[in-house]
Amino acid sequence: VIEIGQPEHSVVTTCAYCGVGCSFKAEMRGQEVVRMVPWKDGKANRGHSCVKGRFAWGYATHKDRILNPMVREKITDPWREVGWDEAFAHVAKEFRRLQFQYGKGAIGGITSSRCTNEETFLVQKLVRAGFGNNNVDTCARVCHSPTGYGLGKAFGTSAGTQDFDSVEHTDVVILIGANPTDGHPVFASRLKKRLRQGAKLIVIDPRRIDLVRSAHIEASHHLPLKPGTNVAVLTALAHVIVTEDLFDEAFIRERCDWSEFEDWASFVADPANSPEATEAFTGVPASELRGAARLYARGGNGAIYYGLGVTEHSQGSTTVMAIANLAMATGNIGRPGVGVNPLRGQNNVQGACDMGSFPHELPGYRHISGSDVRDVFEKLWGVELNPEPGLRIPNMLDAAVDGSFRGIYIQGEDILQSDPDTKHVKAGLEAMECVVVHDLFLNETANCAHVFLPGSTFLEKDGTFTNAERRINRVRKVMTPKNGLSDWEVTLKLAQAMGLGWSYDHPSQIMDEIALTTPSFASVSYKLLEEKGSVQWPCNEARPEGTPVMHLDGFVRGRGKFIRTEYVATDERTGPRFPLLLTTGRILSQYNVGAQTRRTENVAWHAEDLLEIHPHDAEQRGIRDGDLVKLASRSGETALRAKITERVAPGVVYTTFHHPGTQANVITTDFTDWATNCPEYKVTAVQVSPSNGP
Ligand code: SF4
Repeated sequence: VIEIGQPEHSVVTTCAYCGVGCSFKAEMRGQEVVRMVPWKDGKANRGHSCVKGRFAWGYATHKDRILNPMVREKITDPWREVGWDEAFAHVAKEFRRLQFQYGKGAIGGITSSRCTNEETFLVQKLVRAGFGNNNVDTCARVCHSPTGYGLGKAFGTSAGTQDFDSVEHTDVVILIGANPTDGHPVFASRLKKRLRQGAKLIVIDPRRIDLVRSAHIEASHHLPLKPGTNVAVLTALAHVIVTEDLFDEAFIRERCDWSEFEDWASFVADPANSPEATEAFTGVPASELRGAARLYARGGNGAIYYGLGVTEHSQGSTTVMAIANLAMATGNIGRPGVGVNPLRGQNNVQGACDMGSFPHELPGYRHISGSDVRDVFEKLWGVELNPEPGLRIPNMLDAAVDGSFRGIYIQGEDILQSDPDTKHVKAGLEAMECVVVHDLFLNETANCAHVFLPGSTFLEKDGTFTNAERRINRVRKVMTPKNGLSDWEVTLKLAQAMGLGWSYDHPSQIMDEIALTTPSFASVSYKLLEEKGSVQWPCNEARPEGTPVMHLDGFVRGRGKFIRTEYVATDERTGPRFPLLLTTGRILSQYNVGAQTRRTENVAWHAEDLLEIHPHDAEQRGIRDGDLVKLASRSGETALRAKITERVAPGVVYTTFHHPGTQANVITTDFTDWATNCPEYKVTAVQVSPSNGP
């Protein structure tokens, strides 16, 4: 624990790590944080926290933080510190030059899921109203964009259906592609409590995660599927539910389109989708599949929770729709204890998506082509909006290499470290004439930048984050920004430098604009948040208190949509050269690429990423526990220390990606989800050999 002294005052704010959104009381002494105390009245965490939120805030004052704007002509030049005004004027001039020279669509922006709703709203507004195009995307592109697509298609809105309290009413949980004890620890505590009370658990994961068997908890079924076969496994479960008449006909007739259900049912009932037919290539015994399907359909309230093990696949969107199909077929939607619940990774990935960070959607998930929706924004902003969807991140990089995309404003994302195909990302960035990185540290992407705008931490700003249960939590400034400006002020001043007549004195005014333009936020205001502590959207005239559980009386889209989800094997194949499958995940004490957690006290706890390998595979290769090994794929190679464990099945290896030296994205492929371009991070054919071997 970092103890500085006795606190003088405290401020309630929200953790800036994962999508659980825990509330904390920051106990302060002047401008110094004495300690972060989990807030007992926080509705997402109820006084609990994990080690990251409680102790890993030291990065806010780390010496590596860049506090002054910097500019350089070429990326090989040394950085030159400048004042804020000079930096804004430089970026504005460069962006306008690029648009004059190459056209309006030559520049774009990326919003950050680590920033507040108000900040992401401003970045997408800058792109749409200031740049005059829709070239805005977000880091959700590489994590939960398939959730947005799949749940939007099936239910009509791109968000989880339940609040966290709902887990207390659950009888059966399907946990697929998520490891909440490491990734979402405070939610995991609530889930474990329910499991200890007797709720049943089905884990679908290639790896034997802690919840499969831990103190007083034993999963009823662990389906250790081969990475990349989610859709086949879910369709096999659906096959059992349909062919054994375990579906909820009354619910389906009342809430869905019966003829669409019949079409879907005839598809899943095909013998080719049976557990027996899929066992050979999924690796999951048919008896386990049948048992799990019966338990979910007949075990009472059934809830599905999932993570990036669902979305980061070439069939990520298909998998999300397959999950939605299962929930609808069994009537497990629209009341406490059931539902479909994506466990969002980043603190505000839900909010960044809600705020219109995708190139085809205005805030509130409304397609840019809708003239009625554009009209609302055009009247308020006094501009004409482009009705054509803009470029996604990978398309921006492609266009940069082709020469038609020349400049980008990147708010709080290290795309060179976190996006797939590092070589291509680098080539795209290096091809641009003005890369503006707005971040806390000189990250990998900043190596390719021409302008660096220093960012502020969550402790230095006012705003809101929206967590995985759609809960809008207040973020409160507890210290003066060390760089002089909160992130929303940076975007505001950049917009003003570009000639836009924006004027905001406080983020509450940005939230007022969000409420004015976005029906699901219509009643949200800072005043309401002060009164209630937090609210869950939709929060509007129809639901002034917010909405803990969605789709209570009907789906947002009207009738729930059953969609055929045909399994298509990934193009990433094992073979003699690359016989193993690599999948990835996180550990409790580190967060994503580690930019923050590696700069805190807990850096010492896990100093490197490890490669988990089954004893059988290790023995075949002459690898001992702790050996340095070479991990090679068709894309590249890296070196890691081996950890021999039966957590992974033979044929599967696993690692985390918290340390830059691991270079996990040098190994991964460039295959992506067919609907959203979300990278297939979870399946890579690899070989592992002793580091001094061939
Ligand atoms: Fe922060 Fe998530 Fe841990 Fe809560 S569970 S303290 S939100 S990292």
